[in-house]
Amino acid sequence: MKVGFVGLGNMGNPMATNLVKAGHQLTVHDLRREAATNLLEMGAEWADTPRDCVPGSEVVFTSLPAPRDVEAVVLGENGILEGAAAGDVYMDLSTNSPTMIRRIHDVCAEQGVNVLDSPVSGGVYGAAAATLAVMVGGDEAIFNRMKPTLDAIGSHVVYCGPIGNGMVCKICNNTLGMGIGVLMTEVLTLGVKAGVDLAVLADVIANSSGGNRRLVEKFPRYLFKGNFEPGFATALAAKDVRLGTDLAREYGMPMELANLVDQKHVEALHRGWGPEDSDAVSKLQEEKAGIQLRLPEA
Ligand code: NAD
Repeated sequence: MKVGFVGLGNMGNPMATNLVKAGHQLTVHDLRREAATNLLEMGAEWADTPRDCVPGSEVVFTSLPAPRDVEAVVLGENGILEGAAAGDVYMDLSTNSPTMIRRIHDVCAEQGVNVLDSPVSGGVYGAAAATLAVMVGGDEAIFNRMKPTLDAIGSHVVYCGPIGNGMVCKICNNTLGMGIGVLMTEVLTLGVKAGVDLAVLADVIANSSGGNRRLVEKFPRYLFKGNFEPGFATALAAKDVRLGTDLAREYGMPMELANLVDQKHVEALHRGWGPEDSDAVSKLQEEKAGIQLRLPEA
């Protein structure tokens, strides 16, 4: 299948790589041409604009940082919509606002262009291993048509309902994931302060009712190693929690704890940690506790 792909960063590049490996012919674009080097070496074609990714492609994907980036790449000058014709399919793999993707869907629908949201979860390791969870919203018949293509990037591809529902699932998941990170840092620093070895504490929690993937998969690769190279940037994590609290405001939902988690991320951004991995937020609690949660052998 011919596939267009815009946004070749930490997630987009490995996802596009897996599409090439699955036999698809890719036309790719990014603001940074060097982000495409490995893909061009594998036979992908370069496009100078998002619009140029569209002609001939059966589907165009985006994997971009924030809602405003997706809006510009789809609806802006030289954007995907300019290059699209009735019947074309566009899917957003970014973590975007449900309201934004529903608006983009409606604008594109006026020209007969199909839009589905398909945010992903599983991090850069999941993207490289093609084991992502993929959460799709939009027309179910088009989802069924695209499912084999999505299987090249993920191992758990789920239809979530109408347009925007994939984003709702993703935002709920990430708001929870960031909240778990904040609370877990508090209890781990508490346990260490109260005399327990960090490796013992982490092992006990991982195998008890508080066990979670952040503890067993993410902290060992980042926080426990003192490795804050992203991964998943703090700026993107802050964006995701804010998407969660914004969605709650939009629907009049009380979300007291999520707003505390949001403010932790705002504080981390003010420290200048936006470009660092999202585990950098844990450094706030580490500083207050006077304890560093490090397990170099994890
Ligand atoms: P990233 O910053 O590494 O990559 C984004 C890429 O988009 C960059 O290469 C950038 O140059 C490009 N870009 C930005 N604006 C552009 C534009 N106008 N035109 C063309 N290219 C443009 O971000 P990422 O970590 O790959 O995340 C991408 C999306 O996936 C985000 O929405 C993020 O929240 C989500 N996500 C990230 C992870 C993760 O672990 N990193 C996991 C799941 C979901």
